[in-house]
Amino acid sequence: MRVRSIVIPLLKWFSENSRDLPWRKTTDPYAIWVSEIMLQQTQVKTVIPYWERWMKRFPNITSLANSNEDELIKLWEGLGYYSRVRNMRKAAKDIVEVYGGKFPCDLKHVLSLPGVGRYTGGAICSIAYNQPEPIVDGNVVRVLTRLIGIEESSKSKSVVDRLWSVAADLVKHSMSLNKSKQRNASSFNQAMMELGALVCTPRNPLCANCPLKGRCIARKKNKVEIIPVMPKRVRLTKRRFFGFVVCWRNKIFIQRRPRLGVNAGFWEFPNWEVDTTAEAAHVAKANLSLGQVDLDPLCIINHSITRYRNRLEMFVIESTEKPSLAKLNGQWISESKLEGLPLTSAHRKVVNKLIS
Ligand code: SF4
Repeated sequence: MRVRSIVIPLLKWFSENSRDLPWRKTTDPYAIWVSEIMLQQTQVKTVIPYWERWMKRFPNITSLANSNEDELIKLWEGLGYYSRVRNMRKAAKDIVEVYGGKFPCDLKHVLSLPGVGRYTGGAICSIAYNQPEPIVDGNVVRVLTRLIGIEESSKSKSVVDRLWSVAADLVKHSMSLNKSKQRNASSFNQAMMELGALVCTPRNPLCANCPLKGRCIARKKNKVEIIPVMPKRVRLTKRRFFGFVVCWRNKIFIQRRPRLGVNAGFWEFPNWEVDTTAEAAHVAKANLSLGQVDLDPLCIINHSITRYRNRLEMFVIESTEKPSLAKLNGQWISESKLEGLPLTSAHRKVVNKLIS
């Protein structure tokens, strides 16, 4: 099968079936960059309201470069992987300083921006500027490995190199078909991802509706369910935490996470990782410098961060004396102020329990 033969049917399928997504209504590289960064590790339906809010508040590079970091992470709250938003702010400052506020259009310059890798750089240059730059994300890997019938691990270097090379050839070929000044590089790359998202899905792909079904080797060989071949999953690690909502005179103690590491700069209730035999009262006494402790169980929040499966057991402590929490990086605030602080998603759920 000549892989290039997929380009025309795929472009046709995309023109008839693409979803009406807000960032598809623009060719502004800034808006497309924001959407691509938000879409990393996050589903389209989750991203839409975030992207719309963001574009209202920060409609251009300059507004992002001049932004306040606390406001940014508050706007990003719930999307996770917060290094993304910090890198965006740094990149916006670089664009203002180095490129006079105009988003660069040369791939080499785009790739020099913080947080922009090969996929994102290719996506911005192809979607915004219609340059024939390839992109390979999880959707494209799935479509191409099935189409070509690659039965080696899709993460091996030789397979990854091959997929980038095929994707580069296809997007260049799409431009050579450009007879009516269509934006073929932009449409072709989006079409590959769209097919992976809507038709060539990880499980139960809709092969009967696929515009490439006659050209697909995995389908011919009945190997759709085993391609792409994934490396063995990493082992999951369970972790247990005790957390405390410490209340004193209608105020609640809240602490700030360190400026480096996971969820840097976010706010949360004091909490500690414990082993399976730990007792909450003991942990509270040892860490919160409290004498008599009355614990009121509030909730258990199960959440995941990368390979960790965390169980956060929360308790409320009503203290009659002001606890001495000077060694924690935090402050006493009223319950109503919790709403306006950027909180980690687990602790946002705790707040929702607290006020429900
Ligand atoms: S025929 Fe099925 S497996 Fe092959 S590309 Fe289409 S949806 Fe994917």
